[in-house]
Amino acid sequence: MIADMHVHTRWSSDAEVPVCEQVERAIELGMESICITDHQDFDAPRFPPDYFTFLIDDRGDDAAISEYLADLAKVKETYADRIEVLAGIELGMQPYLCEKLTALASSFPFDFIIGSTHTFHKMDAEDKRHYDGMDIGLAVSQYFQEELENIKRFQSFDVAGHMDFVLRYGPGALEQFTYARYGDILDEILKALITTGRGIECNTSKFVAKNMTNPHRDIIKRYAELGGEIITFGSDSHVSARLGEGFKAVGEMVKDCGIQYYAVFRQHKPAFYPI
Ligand SMILES: [Zn+2]
Ligand SMILES: [Zn+2]
Repeated sequence: MIADMHVHTRWSSDAEVPVCEQVERAIELGMESICITDHQDFDAPRFPPDYFTFLIDDRGDDAAISEYLADLAKVKETYADRIEVLAGIELGMQPYLCEKLTALASSFPFDFIIGSTHTFHKMDAEDKRHYDGMDIGLAVSQYFQEELENIKRFQSFDVAGHMDFVLRYGPGALEQFTYARYGDILDEILKALITTGRGIECNTSKFVAKNMTNPHRDIIKRYAELGGEIITFGSDSHVSARLGEGFKAVGEMVKDCGIQYYAVFRQHKPAFYPI
């Protein structure tokens, strides 16, 4: 079973599930590795105002991250003879935060860092007010522009998380999407990742609900055409029932796109396994 490299637990402000419950589900599914990647989004836009902080343990300071890593180290030891538990984090990127994120990345011994663009123009891509009276094609372009800036300014992540996140939430965004329409900016994003040894993830969070992966299959195909080889699989599960969701079907799709191996990161180094 393909390793799940994007998993949330109670250390994320929007999840309740204990780390052990996710790990035990992964064992049940026959995974040999799992990576816990809880949310750390500095300055996340709060909408509605009582919405989640998206900071580790709702604090996100160095002490919270140290406690998080200590907990993961303990779980890793407990399950060492049954599964490999890796320590990751999902960092929410915004251009003005990139120095802060670079400092954070170098201060802690993560195995794996997902760099995610959840916002653009300081608003959550999930916030429908973003798109009021706006041409959806323009909004999608603006999202990709900001993501490119994030990728260029913050170099310390391993894979770009759900890199077309805007297609998940922008009204009509998925329906109007073709690779050609955004080809220039998407090629630039993919090349910026490939030339710096970074990869993409195939995120299955909306595979069952919306029959989509993030990114879109055409983006994965183009990534392979451009020589990209590093791809992780992530369910982005916030509950154990969704762990590894869709990996079998999506694995076949990724192979059809021209990528035969999935990656598992240890101390930021990818190791490759047949899909
Ligand atoms: Zn995310
Ligand atoms: Zn996530």
